[in-house]
Amino acid sequence: MKTRKTNYTATFTLFMVAFLLIAFSVQSKEKYALVIHGGAGNIAKESIDDEQEQEYLEALAEALSIGEEMLQSGSSSLDVVEEVVKFLEDTPLFNAGKGAVFNIQGDNELDASFMCGKTHNAGAVAGITTVKNPVSAARKVMENSPHVLLTGKGAETFAYEQGLEIVDPGYFFDQRRWNQYREHIRSNVNSRRQGDIRQSDDENKMGTVGAVALDKEGNIAAATSTGGMLGKKYGRIGDSPLIGAGNYASNLACGVSATGHGEYFIRNMVAYDLAARMIYKGQPLEDAAHEVIMENLVDQDANGGIIAIDKDGNVVMLFNTTAMFRGFVNAQGEKGTWIFE
Ligand code: ASP
Repeated sequence: MKTRKTNYTATFTLFMVAFLLIAFSVQSKEKYALVIHGGAGNIAKESIDDEQEQEYLEALAEALSIGEEMLQSGSSSLDVVEEVVKFLEDTPLFNAGKGAVFNIQGDNELDASFMCGKTHNAGAVAGITTVKNPVSAARKVMENSPHVLLTGKGAETFAYEQGLEIVDPGYFFDQRRWNQYREHIRSNVNSRRQGDIRQSDDENKMGTVGAVALDKEGNIAAATSTGGMLGKKYGRIGDSPLIGAGNYASNLACGVSATGHGEYFIRNMVAYDLAARMIYKGQPLEDAAHEVIMENLVDQDANGGIIAIDKDGNVVMLFNTTAMFRGFVNAQGEKGTWIFE
């Protein structure tokens, strides 16, 4: 009798352990998250009217919905960040793809990068003028070439060979961006006359886009795309297409997409620094991001922010400017979009 009871208890315990293990693994597989940004900058709340604010928030919400639906139905983080960034590139509100800022010569030169956290494979393009969706070109470099970064004409030829949509450079023209460019040139001429060379127009240069996703398989991917900085010198390449600076992804730590004054993000290897702090120092994502963005960059007067997701699905959206267009969604049903603090 006693043996029979012991058998029942053992079977029951075994059953419970198996049940909990299965429940835990199903639950952990169901974990997914997506975080996006549309650039960071020092803009005054009054400089955006309610209608414009609504327009930005709606565009961010739509980008999140595209990604959320894909993640729910089991798409890979790679497909999700590409699709979401393509949408943001096609939206003229942001400084990437259509609606990119103009360089000093009045041209649009686009940069983008893509990274897979599972394989640590990466691809990027810089200084391109004819590829409709630079983020897709960056992914093609990652998947279909032995290289990481292609620039200018070579990158455009490669994108064409890969069957990506090629457009006339005029496709990227946006009247609002042109007006900002004209104003930038005018004010630089004036300030130079007064002996003060203006480096940047904080209000106008924001809008770089990025997305980081963690899919149900636990894989992280990150993508960043930009027109760079308003009035940049022709040929200038910022942090956005540089793996480790404006973009990084590792399943061992986190995925990161950055936005801000690129030169500082390059010198500080911002995106990789975050992941390295987590791996080598054991810092939680939030602490790592705080030290990099709110301490190191602030000490250098460097403007910008990051979005990131760690391997457990924790999301961070941190910026040292007055605003960053941003939003996130996760498997727990948390969702939101914001511009100001
Ligand atoms: N980081 C971009 C660049 O320097 C610009 C931005 O994010 O606003 O090209």
